[in-house]
Amino acid sequence: MWTYACVIFICASFSGFVDSEKMYSGYQLLSISKTLNKTQYDALVELQKRPRLDFWSEPSTMRTTDILVAPQDVSSVEVYLKNRNIDYLVSIADVKIAVEKDTKQRENRQGGMNWKQYHRLDVIYAWLEAQTHQNPRVVQVSNIGKSYENRPIKLVKISTGTYHRNPAIVIDAGIHAREWIAPATATYMMKQLLSVGLEDRDLIDSLDWYFIPVVNPDGYEYTHTEDRLWRKTRSKHSDEECIGVDANRNFDFHWGEAGTKEDACANTYPGPYPFSESEANATAGFLWTNRGRIKAYLTLHSYSQLFLTPYGYTEDLPDDYDDLHDLGVKAAKALEEVHGTEYEVGAPSHILYANSGSSRDWAKGVAEIQYPFTIELRDKGDSGFLLPASEILPTATETWEAVKVIGRKLIQDAHKTNRFGFLRYVGPIYSYSGSSQDWAREFADVKYSYTVELRDSGKKKFLLPPEDILDTGRETWEAVKVIARKIIDDRDT
Ligand SMILES: [Zn+2]
Repeated sequence: MWTYACVIFICASFSGFVDSEKMYSGYQLLSISKTLNKTQYDALVELQKRPRLDFWSEPSTMRTTDILVAPQDVSSVEVYLKNRNIDYLVSIADVKIAVEKDTKQRENRQGGMNWKQYHRLDVIYAWLEAQTHQNPRVVQVSNIGKSYENRPIKLVKISTGTYHRNPAIVIDAGIHAREWIAPATATYMMKQLLSVGLEDRDLIDSLDWYFIPVVNPDGYEYTHTEDRLWRKTRSKHSDEECIGVDANRNFDFHWGEAGTKEDACANTYPGPYPFSESEANATAGFLWTNRGRIKAYLTLHSYSQLFLTPYGYTEDLPDDYDDLHDLGVKAAKALEEVHGTEYEVGAPSHILYANSGSSRDWAKGVAEIQYPFTIELRDKGDSGFLLPASEILPTATETWEAVKVIGRKLIQDAHKTNRFGFLRYVGPIYSYSGSSQDWAREFADVKYSYTVELRDSGKKKFLLPPEDILDTGRETWEAVKVIARKIIDDRDT
């Protein structure tokens, strides 16, 4: 029986590759230059209403708009663009060839995880589990939910901190199925954290890292077996003609407003209601439960080379936009120093196009996470979603430098809030662990926890004479009264 099941599975996978190639035979990717006037922009928005056209990037007056066009539509779309004086280039002349290259890379894959190839979900998940066995004190894997087709949505925690007192950073990837570079980059970062040298040790000692490397596992698998360019989840809601929801338009914050389409067959369909998708729900649930501790939320996408801050649903900016922008610029600069890759930083409604119901907007607007960024990875449209596997390592290494800048900013911020001010007051005499004072603070949440070392300063040491008892008692009592009154004051204010 088992053998029989395997045979079926192999056949299904194999024919899937063939279907995927066939599906894109004769498809072209057209790139429209960004110098659009308002009339031309409106014409593109109108064009978007046609069936079969897949806008890899939304119409924008600020950057190129890429459209995947089926063979039967190529000539009519070209006429449409020419009649409106809209300049365009054919950036991929036959998408089938690009998809075939992908297929070959997958067929050549040698077992195990590496960053020279894109991997199936089972390889990624097996690698995560292996990390917990190799580093059980640093890595923890758990499930935060299940996808529509019942696949686990895995969460990985990486930290040496044993207490839940570190600031936390959350990185997710793969909410859009076809953006393969995103999970590949997320897993690379995990690998780097698990092999940090002394110079980067602060990153795992002083910060808790959480990864959701494949938010939309159903869609991700579907891109490997059936349709390389699938974007959405694989859910089927009653009364709907088409499958799938754009999970990154499904979050319950200004849901269904700008940049979404009510048509269930559209690639930006926000779903029948907010959080209809278990994938969006699981991600939000984790962010919400840990919202006090999570200081940064980075959601990895492709493509366009952008650091996007909130908000997408409005042109209004968050109050602390300057801080967000400043950190984004610093991160982008660190990224550029590696291979010279340029990223732009800003709010989507200002530098891209409006979108609503995204995880990034929700993270800021509802969970009040300080630094949420959407990172649109390589490239700028030459290969788009079909980024060659040879670009995984350069993309991942440069992005990692940017993410380290954000991580270190969180560590600095945590030091500034001086959480352990009571220890600094006397200055660290020597460091020790397992004390009642630390425990009271860390586990019992005691606000004012002091070790009071009484007389004397070292002359008689433990042999303090009895005549010192009364004076020591009296003076200490005055100190304790100050603390007691502070607690009464705190209660009354
Ligand atoms: Zn995306």
